[in-house]
Amino acid sequence: MLFFKDVAETFLKIESKSGRLEMTDILAQLFKKTDVKEIDKLIYLVQGILAPPYDGIELGLGEQFAIRAIASAAGYDRSKVESNYKKSGDLGLTIEELFAKKKQQSLSSSDMDVLYIYDSFVKMAKTSGQGSQELKIKYLTELLNNSSPTEARFIIRFVTGRLRLGVGDPTILDALSFSRTGDKSLREELERAYNVCSDLGYVAKTFFESPEKIVEFKVQPFKPLQPALAERLSTPKEIIEKLGSCSIEFKFDGFRLQCHKKGNEVELYSRKLEKMTHMFPDVVDAIKKLKVKEIIFEGEALAFNEPQKRYFSFQQTMHRRRKHGIDAASKELPLNIFVFDILYLNGKDLTAQPYSSRRKTLESIFPEEILKLSEKIDVKNEKEIEKLFKQSISEGLEGIMAKDLASPYTAGKRKFAWIKLKKSYGKAVDTIDGVIVGYYLGKGARVEFEFGGLLLAVYNEDNARLETVARIGSGYTEEEMKELQEMLEEIKTTAPPDKLDYKVEPDFWVQPKYVVEVAFDDITLSPMHTCGVKDDRGYALRFPRMQKMRGDKSISEITTTREVVDLYEKQMK
Ligand code: AMP
Repeated sequence: MLFFKDVAETFLKIESKSGRLEMTDILAQLFKKTDVKEIDKLIYLVQGILAPPYDGIELGLGEQFAIRAIASAAGYDRSKVESNYKKSGDLGLTIEELFAKKKQQSLSSSDMDVLYIYDSFVKMAKTSGQGSQELKIKYLTELLNNSSPTEARFIIRFVTGRLRLGVGDPTILDALSFSRTGDKSLREELERAYNVCSDLGYVAKTFFESPEKIVEFKVQPFKPLQPALAERLSTPKEIIEKLGSCSIEFKFDGFRLQCHKKGNEVELYSRKLEKMTHMFPDVVDAIKKLKVKEIIFEGEALAFNEPQKRYFSFQQTMHRRRKHGIDAASKELPLNIFVFDILYLNGKDLTAQPYSSRRKTLESIFPEEILKLSEKIDVKNEKEIEKLFKQSISEGLEGIMAKDLASPYTAGKRKFAWIKLKKSYGKAVDTIDGVIVGYYLGKGARVEFEFGGLLLAVYNEDNARLETVARIGSGYTEEEMKELQEMLEEIKTTAPPDKLDYKVEPDFWVQPKYVVEVAFDDITLSPMHTCGVKDDRGYALRFPRMQKMRGDKSISEITTTREVVDLYEKQMK
């Protein structure tokens, strides 16, 4: 049985180390002490989650609620907790400090094991309905009453969604391999297993049951795969240089869906692997009617007006639905899925097959009703690509996707299996996807909405930090401003995000959660921003303007500092 106090001690050790090797070693030691019945739960705790995203079990207790539980467990007023928190910027440290000098020394920290802690968190997460917040605070206070200061530090960070151990999935995979083999020899198999089921707890449990099962790990329905990602190039010439002869498909500006069917059961997953089944009943019906027992395929959901041969982006589609009602809009703009890949069929994992054969299988099943095929055209030279690119823009799409015919399905990876070529907006050279880290209050006309723009960050892979790249003050509709203001209000924090390097401070910091697409004129060097900073100046977007929210993208998919630097260097040429 693994005690939570050992886990908390391990977390403490991990925090004081920065090297990946050391962290791997410490984690592997912990895994060695862990039973097969506990390992999945322990992995989730290390990841700071309760289950993979598609299970939809989330805790995310608001700061104010956590503060109330802390005050009650530590026996201080709320104002004392708040003032300590203002200084430390970390509720975990706050409770640890307050516990250490606890007024009511009633603390009987009895040994809690990992399963008990995990089950208590799940109980809190599943509490819903009237009075549920009060009940959650009660459960949390009970846990805290039983905790040592160190345990409390990590419990509070976990329930508020700010565990920040700095242990990424790659380190966990390394440590799993080390814990059983003493080296990294099963690392690759473990990673592949993770990429095709997106559930690290499940992978670890399977591995602990028997390492052979990992070597033979297969794609399975209702365990969504990490979606394959696309690289970006700027011209047809670059694409031909990279791939040679290849296939071109249109790049649909839709909503990516991974569709799973087994018997009469169907589930749909978003790109972030959240369950979307309830949102697309007509798609579910069409999939049920497919004449295959089991299938996993991928496509883009968007509206297509057949008589006009015109595509509507997913955003436009949803907007019409809101405005004219679903029934009217569905007739005018029926939602279609443009199917572009197949990953599994009737018990057979197809991900290792080259795209050319997956595509043949795909064509033997689709089109069927609203499940259309994404058209594919083989090309040999840049002129052919140029022509298709222009055609895609004229039909209302956002560009093309070039595909390597020999490539397997690269689950979870950005390999040159897929390359996107996108239109640029107006004068903008390009767009980037960044994460919102803060926002400003409105001035003048905008004050009504209390919203005055966003502070945006990109991801630096070299040091795993977020770095600011722009303050975006324009490009919003009034509706968007209002929506943003409401969304951001909910995730406001007192302290800046943990992993952020910044020089300018917004009026409010927020948890890095929402991804937005931003257009800009070019990239300059600025003393205000920290992206790739050198000699006190960072790379920054000039005339940035909001393009759209990218609710479909997770923060792990945002533009990297390296990409921004590349764009700058290209522009200089
Ligand atoms: P981006 O979101 O700009 O990084 O582009 C990659 C996304 O394009 C994928 O995640 C898909 O959602 C989308 N996409 C649109 N059309 C296709 C297509 N024909 N093949 C693959 N992905 C596509």
